Amino acid sequence: MCAVNADARILAIDQGTTSTRAMVFDAAGQVLVQAQHELPQIYPQDGWVEHNAEEIWRATVEVCATVIEQIGPETVTAMGITNQRETAVIWDRDTGAPIHNAIVWQDRRTASMCRSIRERGLEAEIAARTGLVVDPYFSATKISWLLDNVQGARAAAEAGRLAFGTIDSFLLWRLTGGKVHASDATNAARTQLFDIHAQVWNDSLLEIFQVPRALLPEVHDCAGEFGVCDPALFGRAIPITGIAGDQHAALVGQACLHPGMVKSTYGTGGFSMLNTGGKAVPSDNRLLTTVAYRLNGKTTYALEGSIFVAGAAIQWLRDGLGLIDQSPQSEDHARAVAGTEGVYMVPAFTGLGAPYWDADARGAIVGLSRDTGVSHIVRAALEAVCFQTLDLFQAKAADGVVLDTVRVDGGMAENDWLMQFLADILDLRVERPAMTETTALGVANLAALGAGVFSSLDDVSTRWRSDRDFEPAMAAEDREQLYAGWQKAVERVRG
Ligand code: ADP
Repeated sequence: MCAVNADARILAIDQGTTSTRAMVFDAAGQVLVQAQHELPQIYPQDGWVEHNAEEIWRATVEVCATVIEQIGPETVTAMGITNQRETAVIWDRDTGAPIHNAIVWQDRRTASMCRSIRERGLEAEIAARTGLVVDPYFSATKISWLLDNVQGARAAAEAGRLAFGTIDSFLLWRLTGGKVHASDATNAARTQLFDIHAQVWNDSLLEIFQVPRALLPEVHDCAGEFGVCDPALFGRAIPITGIAGDQHAALVGQACLHPGMVKSTYGTGGFSMLNTGGKAVPSDNRLLTTVAYRLNGKTTYALEGSIFVAGAAIQWLRDGLGLIDQSPQSEDHARAVAGTEGVYMVPAFTGLGAPYWDADARGAIVGLSRDTGVSHIVRAALEAVCFQTLDLFQAKAADGVVLDTVRVDGGMAENDWLMQFLADILDLRVERPAMTETTALGVANLAALGAGVFSSLDDVSTRWRSDRDFEPAMAAEDREQLYAGWQKAVERVRG
């Protein structure tokens, strides 16, 4: 890496679905200090998921203050923000107070609004501009819901008194003491209001989703001057020089900087993102075309598929059913049995994502017999993650793109059994990096670039190191038989 300043220290804020973290990286990409705060989930109704934005802010200040204190404010060169995407916050520009809890990406409350937009025949136009399917997942209908359900919000929004942001934008606003209302091209691309080809908010989309333009942030490249931190917060005016949505940051952190490289993240949800270079590849299989990153005004695109429930199924086994005490125990259960004996879990708790996009589907465990034990069910939950990944990869291949490199990360990537089963089911080598904090590392790289510490991302590729490669070892007929069983199970849960 062309390090202008080898002593540079970059602070990455990683505001995820289940936690808020701060990490300080040195110029070689090593973590020097870190701090974390769990984020409580709020479930007001079936299918609804909210976060308290004020709590997110408090946690962000706390984790940043902790690491900055440990390392010394004078040593921090710049900071970057990466975040759970699509989650929508609206706040008052005068007071900075959110008008409602943030509506989280997983939330399905706007399913009927999406249905009516589809029934009006608008889906093709929306997909052509945004690369996205019409689904409650994205911010646009969440914004509309907030404006219609918080008293006086729509009028206040039209009068310019409110601001919308994804979490990056909300944190940037707060960090700069209310001076900067901006976001980056990756987060903007997930609102469903942004034209990913022209790289602007689009009036026709604003009209369809009934979102006043006055609510929206400015959209910047992923690396550059976003603003400076209010010195009252951490004792120094630290520049904020990098922002990217979590999956996009992870793509950079995994050094998937060339077409054909895919990173698959397995956290609460699962996200696989394939770099398609300067070409926005439209999907015939209802995958998402999105901005991978934008640097110096040049957009690199990606094809993305999401799994709504990946680690969340393991959380449910742990917290909902009490079948395991800790998530890593799922690996012991999977190894304790030779197979699931025909048991499949389809964890469609909040509907099915790509390539099915079925908001009405609900989960099921099928193939139970009197011999089914806890280990079979736990193993079926892990296997489901791999089958869902194969669903996505087959859809990408059908869109005519070649996948040549698979790099994994996220909490579940620590599970060796799961990674081997993934390689077996995909019939591809799976590479796990030595540095698994790819999301935070990715935005630290972007922030370093934005601060002039690095001159380009090129050397990120040469610094990437594998911890372990998992080679496929399953016979083709076993793989096909297992996958056929999965497809049958999915058919049974469709809404
Ligand atoms: P997020 O960023 O979405 O909050 P993480 O990447 O921190 O998620 O991953 C946490 C998820 O991974 C949880 O759902 C947890 O149940 C699951 N998880 C963590 N470790 C393991 C493991 N060894 N095996 C299976 N699942 C795991």
